[in-house]
Amino acid sequence: SIKLSARVQAVKPSATLAITARAKALKAAGKDVIGLGAGEPDFDTPAHIKEAAIAAINRGFTKYTPVDGTPELKQAIIAKFERENQLHFTADQILVSCGGKQSFYNLAQAVLDPGDEVVIPAPYWVSYPDMALLAGGVPVLVDAGAEQRFKIRAEQLAAAITDKTRLVVINSPSNPTGMAYTSAELEALGAVLRAHPQCLIATDDMYEHIRWSDAPFVNIVNVCPDLAPRTLVLNGVSKAYSMTGWRIGYAGGPETVIRAMKKIQSQSTSNPTSISQVAAQMALEGPQDCIATMLAAFKERHDMVVERLNQIPGIECLATDGTFYVFPRVQGLIDRLDAVANDLELAEHLIEHAGVALVPGSAFGLEGYARISIATSRDNLERALDRIAAVAG
Ligand code: PLP
Repeated sequence: SIKLSARVQAVKPSATLAITARAKALKAAGKDVIGLGAGEPDFDTPAHIKEAAIAAINRGFTKYTPVDGTPELKQAIIAKFERENQLHFTADQILVSCGGKQSFYNLAQAVLDPGDEVVIPAPYWVSYPDMALLAGGVPVLVDAGAEQRFKIRAEQLAAAITDKTRLVVINSPSNPTGMAYTSAELEALGAVLRAHPQCLIATDDMYEHIRWSDAPFVNIVNVCPDLAPRTLVLNGVSKAYSMTGWRIGYAGGPETVIRAMKKIQSQSTSNPTSISQVAAQMALEGPQDCIATMLAAFKERHDMVVERLNQIPGIECLATDGTFYVFPRVQGLIDRLDAVANDLELAEHLIEHAGVALVPGSAFGLEGYARISIATSRDNLERALDRIAAVAG
C-alpha cells in the first residue's frame, strides 16, 4: 500500500467544502437539496470587475507577474489600507496571494516550527487548525460559547499563552459565528498580548465589509497601534466583492514576515493569476456601491432567518454582527430526534430527510450548533426553514 506523510494524515479535508460538494452532487443526481453550507456570496461578481479582467485577457496580460503581486495591485491595496483602515504599509509590507487561505497558509509556514503553539479562538474558521498542523504547529483552542457571544475574554487568552505560543489568531467578524469584537474587547486582548512580545498576531479581516453596524470597522492594530510591528493584517476580495473563484487575498505586515511568506509562495504557487489581480485592483479602486447592495440583502435575510429559527422548537439563534452566517444552537433539536445523537448526525438527517444541507458546529469546534449560510435567495431560505421546522415537529 502507498504510504502517505504523517503531515497529511494529521489533517482533514475542509468540512465546509465537503458539505457543499455533497449538496451539489445530490442536486445533480436529481434530489431536491437546498444548500446552506456555502461560504460564498450568492451574487455575481460585479460587471465592472469582470470587464476589467476581460480587457486584461484581450490585451495579453496573461503571463507571470511578480510573485508578490503587480505593483499596481499592491498600490491599490496600500491605498485601501490607508483609506478604510488608517493603516500605513509600504510595498515591501504587502503580499498578494491565491486567496485569503493562502495568506494564512504562507504565514503558518513562515513562522511556525514543530511544537510552536497557535492560539485559535473556537468556534473557528475550519482551516486555521489544519493549516497550523500542516506547518508542524500545535493548535491551542480557546472556547467561547454563546454566553460570551462566541468571543474569547482577555483572561482566557492570558491563560492560553505559554512560552511556546508563536501566533494568536483573531477573526472578526467571525466565520462561523458572525460576531465582531468591540474596541474595548480588542483593547483587553491587546493588553494581554503586549505582555508577550514573542507572540505574532494575525487579524483576519475577511468579513470587514459585511457588518450591520454603521460604526467604523476596527481591528486590533487600530486599537493597539503599538502591536503593529508584530501583527499581520489579512484580508481579500473574495467575500466583499463576491469574488471567491478569482482567488485573491492579501496580507499587510512586518517586512521580515512578509518577505518570508513571499519566499514560501515563490516556491509553491508563484504569483496569483495575472487576470484575477487586474480584477482585484478594479474591485478596490472602482465603485464600491456593489458592497452596499449585497450588505442590504444579507441584513434582510439575517433578520428573517434569526427570527424564524428562534420559532423552531429546539433551536436558539443569536442575532449576529455581520458575515453571511448564523450559528444557532441546535442541541434541543438533536434531543427531540430519536435517530439523531449529535450535530454531525443532525446534518446528515437534515440532508436525507429535509433536503437541507448545513454544516455541523463540531466542524468549527463547537458541538450542538450548526452553521447556516444566508448567502442564498430569500425564497430558498424560507423553504429551508419550513423544512427544518417540519422535521422539528
Ligand atoms: N478567512 C476566513 C475567516 C474565511 O471565512 C475565509 C473563507 O471562507 C477565508 C479567510 C479565505 O478566503 P479565500 O481563500 O476564499 O479568499
